[in-house]
Amino acid sequence: MNLIKKDFIFQDIKKLKGVGTQLSKYLRQKKVEKIKDIIFDLPYSETDRSKLSKLNELEIGKIQTIKVKVKKINFPRIRNLPNKVICEDETGKIDIVYFNSREGYLKKIFPINEWVVISGKINFFRNNYQITNPDYVTNLEKQNYVVKNIPKYKLTKGINEKKYRSIIDQVTQNLPIVEDWLNDDFIKENNLLNWNETIKKLHFTEESKNHKSKSFRRLVFDEICANFIVLSENRKRIKKFKKEKIFKELISNNIIKALPFKLTNSQYETLKEINLDIKSDKRMFRILQGDVGSGKTIVSLLSIANVIESNFQCALMAPTEILALQHFQLAKNIFKDTKIIVEFLSGKTETKERKRILKDLEEGKINLIIGTHALFQKKIRFKNLGYTVIDEQHKFGVKQRSNLAQKGGKDCDVLLMSATPIPRTMMMSLYGDMDVSKIKEKPSIRKKIITLSKPEKKINELWPFLQNQINEKNQIFWVCPLIKESKFLDYSSAKEKFDLILKKFPGKVGLIHGALDKIEKDKVLKKFLNKDINILVSTTVIEVGIDFPNANLIIIENANKFGLAQLHQLRGRVGRGKKQGMCVLMFKDGLSKNAIKRLKILKNSDDGFFIAEEDLKLRGFGDLIGFQQSGDKNFKFADPIVHEDLFKLAENLIFKIGDNINQKKYSFLLKLFDKAEILNLKDV
Ligand code: ADP
Ligand code: MG
Repeated sequence: MNLIKKDFIFQDIKKLKGVGTQLSKYLRQKKVEKIKDIIFDLPYSETDRSKLSKLNELEIGKIQTIKVKVKKINFPRIRNLPNKVICEDETGKIDIVYFNSREGYLKKIFPINEWVVISGKINFFRNNYQITNPDYVTNLEKQNYVVKNIPKYKLTKGINEKKYRSIIDQVTQNLPIVEDWLNDDFIKENNLLNWNETIKKLHFTEESKNHKSKSFRRLVFDEICANFIVLSENRKRIKKFKKEKIFKELISNNIIKALPFKLTNSQYETLKEINLDIKSDKRMFRILQGDVGSGKTIVSLLSIANVIESNFQCALMAPTEILALQHFQLAKNIFKDTKIIVEFLSGKTETKERKRILKDLEEGKINLIIGTHALFQKKIRFKNLGYTVIDEQHKFGVKQRSNLAQKGGKDCDVLLMSATPIPRTMMMSLYGDMDVSKIKEKPSIRKKIITLSKPEKKINELWPFLQNQINEKNQIFWVCPLIKESKFLDYSSAKEKFDLILKKFPGKVGLIHGALDKIEKDKVLKKFLNKDINILVSTTVIEVGIDFPNANLIIIENANKFGLAQLHQLRGRVGRGKKQGMCVLMFKDGLSKNAIKRLKILKNSDDGFFIAEEDLKLRGFGDLIGFQQSGDKNFKFADPIVHEDLFKLAENLIFKIGDNINQKKYSFLLKLFDKAEILNLKDV
């Protein structure tokens, strides 16, 4: 019977014996704050101290364990000279050297003429073997604690192996026995292990290092489940009852008829899904996914028209001023034969105009407001906001999303739009709280972008090519990874490239990068949109959704430094109009095999989802753009490639649990992975 309370592991590390203010500070640097963090701080390797070596078989520079007899201790009376313990075995002699040690302590652990076991790094100094400040010294009775393989943990200043071991031991020996939230059959069937055994086993390196061991799989499974439970709970909180919206799709049908193109089947299907959600009595919390250029904006505007038909107001938000303006122009254009009143609001809107818009919004005179995140300021009040659309949502994390859903009030439906292709396995982890609509095809008029690669040393071959493009009044993006030349990174700098290209094509080039202020940035972008300049040199700021129908060539330097998904998004900036789009991927010599493979994938495929899957396989999920930008790197242990089956398994399980979640049963699990607080906070 274990009397240790479950709470033990959720307490502050200071509760442990021997952990005071100073040590807890050091531990905090390792991100260890609560006792449970020690459980999750797994060994990454081990030190072999298991063999007792004779003194004539020592290897210099290696950590070894020896059994020796203490002969003599020297305590020099001159300051700064180390204390020295002279030991021997039947084959030789060794000096054990101590700096800053107390005499009494040494006398105690090195009794003259007794045998001791010592473990540490072997040095050689003035013709003698020596160990300086050994890791362990023990008498023969307690040698079992030292003579073995000892797990290695990441240590920081102020904590050595011995100290950390004593902390780990305190924790693993006092673990509470918890009731497993998985049943035995499930555990067996899926090659997992029960929780109580798992956490002990994981502190043996052979288990923690093997990411397919039963114990590691169990840890991963729990981590995934904790994440999924939060998302599923979040979803339940959002999907509450709302006022139904009643509309006949008259407006949207008329607009569709007047469009200069035919909607794709996918656009029709996703619009239908969205309409059904909006008409239902539960709130919509949906993401509209579609590759760059698949035509998401028009779908959102059509659904907006329907909500307006139902006498609710709508808001459409984009991450940048320029993108928002573009949406505004499109909306005004397609709504021109309707009575829908559209306004634009951003941080730059003049005070007088702004006041008028706020007043009109509050009085319900405006049907649709389009803008940047200025739309979410507290001062902005709607008469009856019924629908919020947020474009290019991958900039938001789960928590922000939930806040967004809250802002519109309880009758507000929410649609997010994203061009970030998410591989199947990651879908649930990223969007488990949302419904998903996917636009699977692109308008058929769109031609595949011709993608070429070129080594940087052949850059001169590009100039005549560019001259031709300019003669034909085409426009070109030139993308570089960094703003300024860095001494440490061999990336091309946008600034220097700008100077070079400007020399070749005076008056035809603009520069845009993240360090530019907004006004400057918009100025340059407008010049490009108005075709005053032909070439836009930039860092990756052009990535997000702007529509430049006249741009048909993009040149990307150091292409191998970008993720595939990101390259695909960048490439999607061109070929949006009638002209054939082209993309040149530039690279430096000496590409790795992997890098060559990646460039090949991009050359051969135009399908963002396929590319994302391949990217995932080659680089791991940390590099997916959605992940980096949303700060949703929720997994410390789980890897969507190694543990693909566990992601699926967790998805099924959470789906089965559905609405019947027993909060009490899972509270331990959620607390373990720091999720409990999120749920309490997220009271939408
Ligand atoms: P994204 O999904 O990347 O946001 P947009 O909504 O910006 O794509 O659309 C890209 C371009 O394609 C726009 O100029 C838009 O007018 C056009 N477009 C949208 N749907 C179609 C279609 N079915 N056929 C032809 N062009 C379309
Ligand atoms: Mg878009």
